[in-house]
Amino acid sequence: MTSAETTSTKNTTTVPAYAAPSAKAPLERTTIERRPVGAHDVLIDIKYAGICHSDIHQARDGWGEGIFPMVPGHEIAGVVTEVGPEVTKFAVGDRVGVGCMVDSCRECENCKAGLEQYCHKGNIGTYNALDKNGEPTYGGYSTHIVVDEAYTVRIPDGLALDVAAPLLCAGITTYSPLAHWNAGPGKKVAVVGLGGLGHMAVKIAHAMGAEVTVLSQTLRKKDDGLKLGADHYYATSDEATFEELRGSFDLIVSTVSAPLPLDKYLSLLRTDGAMVNVGAPEEPVSLNLFSVIGGRKTLAGSGIGGIRETQEMLDFCAEHGLGAEIELIDADKINEAYERVLASDVRYRFVIDTSTI
Ligand SMILES: [Zn+2]
Ligand SMILES: [Zn+2]
Repeated sequence: MTSAETTSTKNTTTVPAYAAPSAKAPLERTTIERRPVGAHDVLIDIKYAGICHSDIHQARDGWGEGIFPMVPGHEIAGVVTEVGPEVTKFAVGDRVGVGCMVDSCRECENCKAGLEQYCHKGNIGTYNALDKNGEPTYGGYSTHIVVDEAYTVRIPDGLALDVAAPLLCAGITTYSPLAHWNAGPGKKVAVVGLGGLGHMAVKIAHAMGAEVTVLSQTLRKKDDGLKLGADHYYATSDEATFEELRGSFDLIVSTVSAPLPLDKYLSLLRTDGAMVNVGAPEEPVSLNLFSVIGGRKTLAGSGIGGIRETQEMLDFCAEHGLGAEIELIDADKINEAYERVLASDVRYRFVIDTSTI
């Protein structure tokens, strides 16, 4: 950190950030305090931060109980500039990422199994959460962040930091179910929705060797979908799609948060197929259970991924040359970008150049 951009007070460090001062207000430039670098912490000079749809939900308090002022951002890519005395995994100069969580209980069955995202006590979110000292966490729309090395991952050299940032949420959220349900050669995988999550699902499933079909409302993004690695592309607004594809897929990954007619989508699965939801509507959905009884089908959900699996995903993406498709923006365009995300007007992820904060 240079003294020009930061000042230290009472052991914490003041750094620039973009924050929503309240649920109804646009984001604006401000400063926040970062904790001192503890024994197991790394200080990260944030280079890029992706804009995830859930940033908008939370900054506008769509899920309630938001902590304001709020600094969103859980797709963080940067470089380590300081390490605590007990840090063993990282050194100054390492390229690193931070995703949706910065801590968890570390003791429960799930934490011990590397499934920290499903911590029984709840993981500690990168922002809009309280850390173990009861202090609010602030996310990646900022120039620096202090994170425990155990919740920090390495970004391989082969991946540029700007296109790597969205992998920390959009990448792992789609990689995890694809890996868990064994997407690969000989498997037919459908991806519902071609947005920030969907475009990564297509790239990753294709790289895993699966035969990939995009199911989108219209054929508007068909050319993109095929370029990203899809083998087939169908419009769900066309009823003939559901007739033609009946009983086709081993796995359907739904990335949309709009309520879907689940019975219709489940009819697209083969026997023993699974439909996994990584997006969810705010209201409960209904389902005729015969849709899963006939064909021994699974309706499932999946949330981000554990730390070990996030590292595995980054290594996989580097090996296969996969980054997100991004539109790089300056920080003063964040509010505009939010409106464009809500209008589905982005191909496929906004990434903030944090040097402009
Ligand atoms: Zn996200
Ligand atoms: Zn736990």
